[in-house]
Amino acid sequence: MLQQILKQYWGYDQFLPLQREAMELVLTQRDSVVILPTGGGKSLCYQVPALCQPGMLVVVSPLIALMKDQVDSLQQCGIPAFAIHSGMSAEAKRNVVSAMQAERVKVFYTSPEQLLTTRSLDFLANIRLSAFAIDEAHCISAWGHDFRPEYRGLSVLRDRFPTVSFHAYTATATPQVCEEIVTSLGMRAPKILVGSFFRPNLVYRVARRDRLLNQLCNLLDRYRRQSGLIYCISRADTERLASSLQELGYSCTAYHAGLSEIERNARQEQFLNDQVDTMIATVAFGMGIDKSNVRFVIHAAMPKSMANYQQETGRAGRDGLEAECWLLYGSEDMLRWRRTFEGAIDEVREAGEQSLRAIYSYCVASHCRHRLLVEHFGQVWGRESCQACDVCLGQFEAVEQPLLVGQKILSCILRTNEQFGSTYVAQVLAGSKDKRILANRHDRLSTYGLLKDFRSSSIRDWIEQLIEQGFVKRLGEYQQLHVSPTGRELLHGKLEPRLMRPIKARAIEVSSPSLLHSWEGVDRELFDRLRRWRSSVSVRRGVAPFLVFSDATLRDLARRQPQDVNALRDVHGIGERKVSDFGKSLLELIHEYRQSHPVDQSASDRFTPIANDPNDHAGAQALAYELFEQGASIEQIAVRLGRVESTIVKYLTNYLQCRQITDPHGWVEPKMFQQIELVARYSGVDKLKPIHDAFHGRIDYDTLRIAAALIQNRRTPSL
Ligand code: ADP
Repeated sequence: MLQQILKQYWGYDQFLPLQREAMELVLTQRDSVVILPTGGGKSLCYQVPALCQPGMLVVVSPLIALMKDQVDSLQQCGIPAFAIHSGMSAEAKRNVVSAMQAERVKVFYTSPEQLLTTRSLDFLANIRLSAFAIDEAHCISAWGHDFRPEYRGLSVLRDRFPTVSFHAYTATATPQVCEEIVTSLGMRAPKILVGSFFRPNLVYRVARRDRLLNQLCNLLDRYRRQSGLIYCISRADTERLASSLQELGYSCTAYHAGLSEIERNARQEQFLNDQVDTMIATVAFGMGIDKSNVRFVIHAAMPKSMANYQQETGRAGRDGLEAECWLLYGSEDMLRWRRTFEGAIDEVREAGEQSLRAIYSYCVASHCRHRLLVEHFGQVWGRESCQACDVCLGQFEAVEQPLLVGQKILSCILRTNEQFGSTYVAQVLAGSKDKRILANRHDRLSTYGLLKDFRSSSIRDWIEQLIEQGFVKRLGEYQQLHVSPTGRELLHGKLEPRLMRPIKARAIEVSSPSLLHSWEGVDRELFDRLRRWRSSVSVRRGVAPFLVFSDATLRDLARRQPQDVNALRDVHGIGERKVSDFGKSLLELIHEYRQSHPVDQSASDRFTPIANDPNDHAGAQALAYELFEQGASIEQIAVRLGRVESTIVKYLTNYLQCRQITDPHGWVEPKMFQQIELVARYSGVDKLKPIHDAFHGRIDYDTLRIAAALIQNRRTPSL
């Protein structure tokens, strides 16, 4: 029954982990707390069983925006769902009340304030209820980050509705919060389900901030016309960044608590409706945003805690498709956050400090990022590798002679009498002429400048790695570094540390395996057409595009290209209501597309010229990148983008650098590449004329440019 409803209304074939178990608890009226990460599919855990039972399910939700999205989304699937909240007219509320009296409502959303009025409680006492679902249930807890006093009032419900079961849903997994949910709601022998917080479709990456605007442009170029978030520390940062990026032609807007409510809502709407690609925001943005097609979340500075990071990045990839989470950190981030809790009471300061240290360790760690996140929240990681973070995807390499480097660092800590923190020790090792170092005469130490070939930021990263591995400890009020007993063993050469450094210092990039997978077989041009069709439907219906169809559904449509209604039913995320509402126009669109793009044509023949703004170089480059990935040739792309071949070669060399590609296959004939590389060993690749002459002009310059890009990638960049 559950499975059939899932398919019939939502068009999904399978349950996500723990969904079925959670649904059965609603069906059997056993109180429950369900803890699943964002995107884990919590809403369906109560929505699906609500359709299998007599009566009406009451959902308590903290925000009007959330309620609206949920109701819109259910109505799009043909489910009689309604809400009553303070933003509605009296007449609209009356209509919902009449529908409830006539037993025409299956799922009813409301806020705690609205629900707990005597009038509402008396009214609901006369309605047949199937269950109560408490969404974002962590709002009950004073320990949680989103405490809402109104949620506490929900404790009266159990006495008023003793025979109705209670089901709480949250993504916050601490035992304290769970305990408070259970007691506040007066749950009876509740079943607690806790899902894994590992989200394999999110690819986590960390890099030092280095010419931020460049780094962001590199990333945004890969996500043209796709949605994403950039988080900043301050309001001023968001404004500054938004105006710089707008000047460069990127579609973005800023969002922070300093804007008027009207302005904030307007900008949020633009983002939700895909009218603006990138939202550049402070922590003020996010709660209640369930836009499913957020393809990237970039932190332009370190967030203030692991919990914040997990929550903010959790907003990416809710549709289950791949999404990237980049954290770009710099040494000043710590200080900036520290200033925000200056003057607070000791406990708050200490807690803030601890959170900062945890997230900083995450930034500099050389272990699987998913593992660190999962373990931070008390879960057991039981996998070898995630294959979805920079570390597991091999973007770090081991430092040569780690023992020697470790020993140099530890002896410097001892030479400075274990009196200093990591920044200072790193500067001494790097041979800095900082005033403090000279005043302390530490430039005369034997360890001064011992690691002068490296940047002090790299040395600081290694110190963090030594701390993480237990060789060094931070002690005392100023967090001075101390050599631990195991550190002493390292000094004696009995233990060896594991020190890592990023492979790519120059470029920010590369796609993950899942990226290829979820675009596999998708006709991108058809996907773009479907997106445009979705926008027009969304405007007509007055609901956000991602509520009409998710990106996952559009990709599946552009992959399967169904010809009839039955084939349409096989598409991920198309239930019966959507077949009847949109089937005809979708089939027509696909039919028309296939007329002009017959399937038996080879993929390469599909690259007919497209309308393209000649001034939109970044857009053209992004499109070219996609086409390179699909294996299109330079000529085909030149035709498709309406640009000359030399421009496409320029895009290609950028692409090769961006992806750090070193293998000539598919780009330059391997034998020829070998010969070019041989000559380049003597002549270098900065100037191509000597190589061109060495081959007596037999190899054209475009080929040489491509080969030069590959050769440069082969040289390990210096730190
Ligand atoms: P959460 O509330 O846990 O963050 P949602 O309930 O918003 O997650 O679900 C996230 C996305 O996953 C939604 O787009 C939803 O339609 C989709 N989803 C839920 N269950 C399934 C399923 N069984 N199969 C495929 N997609 C699902």
